[in-house]
Amino acid sequence: MKAVNLIPADAARASSRSATGAAPFALIGVLAAALAMVAVWTLTERSVESKQRELAAITVEDTRTGDRSRHDAKALFVFIGASPHTEWLGGQLATDRAGFLLTGRDVQGDDLAEYEDERPLFLETSRPGIFAVGDVHSGSIKRVASAVGEGSMAVRLVHQRLAAPVHPAR
Ligand SMILES: Cc1cc2nc3c(=O)[nH]c(=O)nc-3n(C[C@H](O)[C@H](O)[C@H](O)COP(=O)(O)OP(=O)(O)OC[C@H]3O[C@@H](n4cnc5c(N)ncnc54)[C@H](O)[C@@H]3O)c2cc1C
Repeated sequence: MKAVNLIPADAARASSRSATGAAPFALIGVLAAALAMVAVWTLTERSVESKQRELAAITVEDTRTGDRSRHDAKALFVFIGASPHTEWLGGQLATDRAGFLLTGRDVQGDDLAEYEDERPLFLETSRPGIFAVGDVHSGSIKRVASAVGEGSMAVRLVHQRLAAPVHPAR
């Protein structure tokens, strides 16, 4: 887990009260007040305590320092899934600073070396004939539908690359 957003118990109670018929402007006021009480921790892991099947408290641990702290809490939002996990490629394909694979027009400068006078196709990485689709490529939409759609697009683009290889057989 990479980050934990915690809504303290008082704010959670206030938010749930407002959902039972309060006017919209009153709800906005409650949300604004609740927002001031939201704590955001990044690069943490957490464990939870519950009482009678309700969240009662969480303990967060900073993954860099190992520091632990315990907080009473009624609500918890978990934000995960924002790491590309491309380390295993060992630098074989160009990435942005966060590790997402560069494709198409985002491949620039020295990363174009393998293309000689050509340019990568849409979704094609810094290595001709290797395509990246879905969350792993830099600038992707990060939605299921777009990941599936890009997969089907890549099939068509692979055919296009095979018909016009960057390094035709000499
Ligand atoms: C918490 C959360 C909520 C989301 N909610 C929504 C939503 O409501 N609607 C929506 O449209 N999108 C949502 N998304 C985004 C959506 O899940 C992704 O955009 C989509 O799953 C991307 O598909 P993908 O195939 O690119 O990647 P993934 O679905 O992540 O698939 C990649 C696969 O590759 C595998 N893998 C990774 N490394 C290796 C390796 N070295 N060798 C072999 N396999 C490997 C992984 O295990 C995984 O199965 C959400 C994402 C998260 C994290």
